[in-house]
Amino acid sequence: MSKKGKSRQRKHVPHRMCVVCRQTSEKRSLTRLVRTAEGEIHVDSTGKRNGRGAYLCDKPACWQAVLHNPDILGRALHLSISSEDRERIEAAMPEH
Ligand SMILES: [Zn+2]
Repeated sequence: MSKKGKSRQRKHVPHRMCVVCRQTSEKRSLTRLVRTAEGEIHVDSTGKRNGRGAYLCDKPACWQAVLHNPDILGRALHLSISSEDRERIEAAMPEH
């Protein structure tokens, strides 16, 4: 797991891991959920909000997993998910 490599100058594309399926994808294909200073979960469409973040990939199954079991996200962000948080997540779920 060393980051030191010899002249590995590939195009740098940031990758992030989905909090549910643990698969790594390009950051832009994931949705960032951020824990605000108020302890709420908001969907961070810009990816630039301050706060601890967790990522969800675009697979509907991962969103459903979080909606059915918000603890997955709660553990990642160290808080308990309120019903308002859950509604915000549900509203941001990608349509297929
Ligand atoms: Zn996923």
